[in-house]
Amino acid sequence: MSSDGSPGSKSRMLIGACSRCMLYCMVSVKEFPTCVNCKQPYLVDLFHSAAATAEKRGQCK
Ligand SMILES: [Zn+2]
Repeated sequence: MSSDGSPGSKSRMLIGACSRCMLYCMVSVKEFPTCVNCKQPYLVDLFHSAAATAEKRGQCK
């Protein structure tokens, strides 16, 4: 089951904090999420970075 390139497929959203204009915004998950304000890929994924930290601690799923 591939989930790439299907229009209308439910895309996951992330809450990102833009490190450039310091704005929080919700965007769809992609490799380089861009800020809705400055359109630059400066978004820091808050939840994903937290999850990555959890994974490093050996918590799988
Ligand atoms: Zn921005």
